[in-house]
Amino acid sequence: MRENWHERFAEASDCLKSAKCPQTIVHVLDVEIGGDDFITMAGPCSVETESQLMSTANHVRRAGARILRGGAFKPRSSPYTFQGLGLEGLKLLARARKECGLAIVTEVMSEEDVPTVAEYADILQIGSRSMENYSLLEAAAHSGRPVLLKRGMVATLADLLRSAQCILDHGNPHVILCERGIRTFETAMRNTFDVAAIALLKQISHLPVIADPSHAAGRRDMVPMLARIAVAAGADGLLVEVHPNPDKAWSDGEQSLDFAGFDKMMADLKPYLALRVQALHDRELSQCDRGRPQNEAAESYSMEAVG
Ligand code: PEP
Ligand code: MN
Repeated sequence: MRENWHERFAEASDCLKSAKCPQTIVHVLDVEIGGDDFITMAGPCSVETESQLMSTANHVRRAGARILRGGAFKPRSSPYTFQGLGLEGLKLLARARKECGLAIVTEVMSEEDVPTVAEYADILQIGSRSMENYSLLEAAAHSGRPVLLKRGMVATLADLLRSAQCILDHGNPHVILCERGIRTFETAMRNTFDVAAIALLKQISHLPVIADPSHAAGRRDMVPMLARIAVAAGADGLLVEVHPNPDKAWSDGEQSLDFAGFDKMMADLKPYLALRVQALHDRELSQCDRGRPQNEAAESYSMEAVG
């Protein structure tokens, strides 16, 4: 029997594609997330020092990243490790934006910090460990900033979409979903990259979907391959950890690419991104061929996909 996605995800119905809303595009400075461009967000796991952040920001921008990531408030697996620079980190991020022009995405961990983080950041990141913190989601929604919602490490897609719905319910439609790997019985890598989740979310939801191959793999040698798979699965972009000297990073060094590794990943992605552009183009042509106006075609597509 064919799955009825509208019934399965009934609690998150506003996140599903419809004739009225076939695709959300989130605008951040001059960047469109969820549109035709594939958007790479890159930078260190944690903001550490001014030189670390500025050199990374300038490097990833030259290599094609459109958004700078960097954690100032860090939710670590252990409470005894580095917890982030806090406000000082936010100020460094704002300085990096001013210097290199990249928009900033950074995590907010508590409701009280939302106004401060929203003052410095262009996108608020809700981390895996916070995905079901509904009072934080509500506060983030009220900030009016776009929200990058990371899938909890033991969250189903219904759980993820329910959290996205909570942000929409509080009046903020600028939600970006992020697949970052989930916990399974497999322990060879840090998490299991749920690539089917990307494909399904792209099929049923109008919200942009970003892939985080760094936290999914937990090891830098796997990151470029998972990035290519994310493109093939239909992701709208990537969130990737990059550090000038990963072996000396204060957090997540094992999964961070160095500058040369990031350059190579971006270069190797090019043929896959060309195929993506071709696929977008073919889809537009096939909608025109059917001789239907854009909206009708979207309705039929969404009913085929969702019904
Ligand atoms: C991060 O992006 O550095 C991070 C802590 O991610 P996650 O919440 O997915 O573990
Ligand atoms: Mn990290």
